[in-house]
Amino acid sequence: MSESNRTPEDAAARRAVRPVICYPDDGLPPVDIEAYRSVRASASKMSEVIVPARDARAFHVPAGHFFRITSVEGPQVGDLNLWNAANLAERFFSGKTRALHGTHVGVGDRLWSCLPYLRPIATVVADTLAWYGTDPYGGRVHDVIGTRCDPYTHRLLSGGTYHHCCHSNLTRALAAETGLPLDQAELHVHDVLNVFMCTGFTADTGQYFMKASPVRPGDYLEFFAEIDLLGALSACPGGDCSSEHSSDTAPCFPLKVEVFRPKAGSLQDWSSPAVNSYDRTHGTK
Ligand SMILES: [Zn+2]
Repeated sequence: MSESNRTPEDAAARRAVRPVICYPDDGLPPVDIEAYRSVRASASKMSEVIVPARDARAFHVPAGHFFRITSVEGPQVGDLNLWNAANLAERFFSGKTRALHGTHVGVGDRLWSCLPYLRPIATVVADTLAWYGTDPYGGRVHDVIGTRCDPYTHRLLSGGTYHHCCHSNLTRALAAETGLPLDQAELHVHDVLNVFMCTGFTADTGQYFMKASPVRPGDYLEFFAEIDLLGALSACPGGDCSSEHSSDTAPCFPLKVEVFRPKAGSLQDWSSPAVNSYDRTHGTK
């Protein structure tokens, strides 16, 4: 064994040090899930979008409204992007959401926006897959680990060309919704929330794995929009993500997005969270 990788005498003691949670969530603003549910109970459906299989669609959700993503026809994973509808520079921050809430999100967790905004832009208020918990492989649903399937990684690993990866689907949907040229729209597409996707890390090698999603038609994940949102959802070409993506091989199904308007007055004195109050001087003053 070389000098550089010799096991130290106190290796066991060092490994035995207890971990600490990076971001204890008791520092986060409290989430009153019952208050959300009470507003939702009297909300009424405002609009609906069907996302075709292996494609994406954009949708708008005004602040204080709810949106629900539902599996229809067959098991299907969705890749979700969210932006501030008035400022595309403020978008969902998968990495910090993961750091704050964990590898997978559920009821009461927030979707946070990127720096320098860093505020909750959506809150998970209902999840019919909450029963799934953690399976024997360490798999959970609704991950903020994976990035999105994309044609560049596909090219890197296989040399092939495929145009219906979630990255391309989201790019086309954003371009169609905003009128931005395709190459500019692409730059706004970001790491996703993998709705209904069942994933984890292997215990032995720490590799990212996926397995057939437990989602079935009728299952849904529902959110409260904390700010005016522009969303885009891709029905991943991986289908239920049990085998492969970046091809037309897997059976794929549409997804439904519904938006619900709160009853007038039901939000009472609720208002959108403010952007982060850090002064952005970065030590220069
Ligand atoms: Zn995908």
